[in-house]
Amino acid sequence: MNVNNTIAARLSQVQDRIRKTAIQAGRSADSVTLLPVSKTFGEDAIREAVKAGVYRFGENKAQEIRSKFEPLADCDIDWVMIGHLQTNKAKDVARMASEIQSLDRMDLAIALDRRLQQEGRAIDALVQVKTSSEPSKYGLPPEELPGFLRQVARDIPTLRIKGLMTLAINAADDAAVRACFRTLRELRDQMRQEDIAGIELDRLSMGMSGDFEIAIEEGSTEVRIGTAIFGGRIYGNDYYWPEQPDATRR
Ligand SMILES: *Cc1c(COP(=O)(O)O)cnc(C)c1O
Repeated sequence: MNVNNTIAARLSQVQDRIRKTAIQAGRSADSVTLLPVSKTFGEDAIREAVKAGVYRFGENKAQEIRSKFEPLADCDIDWVMIGHLQTNKAKDVARMASEIQSLDRMDLAIALDRRLQQEGRAIDALVQVKTSSEPSKYGLPPEELPGFLRQVARDIPTLRIKGLMTLAINAADDAAVRACFRTLRELRDQMRQEDIAGIELDRLSMGMSGDFEIAIEEGSTEVRIGTAIFGGRIYGNDYYWPEQPDATRR
């Protein structure tokens, strides 16, 4: 096997690129966390990443977390939900995930809270905000964020809001992608100024394999990376963004 093409090797290449980009952007080398995204990859690939030091993995489907949870229980993994979640799957996330980054509406917060109360757990959450005008992209509209934050802080004790998450526009145009990331950071800065319900919003989860360097330049504190670590997926992106054409995603 080509030693430069193992999961461990690609992981360390991605980590190098993250550090280098952070430094070039005038930030400290360790200011950006890597969240490896293991969706569609099985036990063997995940165990390989665990051996290379990863203990947190992003998944975008509740049923996939559920199917990996037991077989990999010995690895003590923190599963992070990053995909659109239907309220009827809130139970799986409440039981098995350590965190959700795709909190995007009140009925989901309420469903999660009910299940988390039953489990006697509280988890960290990032609010997914819609930063592009693409009609199908999930996420809370930016203008609804202040009210949403206030309501979660007041009514949902089991979700600890730590920051914001976004997916950039699905485009080959770097300027358009950058604008999405900048929107999220500016929104965060604005929320901080308004000091909403004492919520800190320290974390900005933005950037994927094709655009994470731009995201870091715009202030990302966490990049979610699948392809660049695990390799290409069998399914195209239309599988993940089902309402959206696949043609332009890099
Ligand atoms: C799949 C996915 C990623 C990672 O995408 P890559 O292009 O494979 O790095 C990041 N965020 C979300 C929400 C995803 O579904």
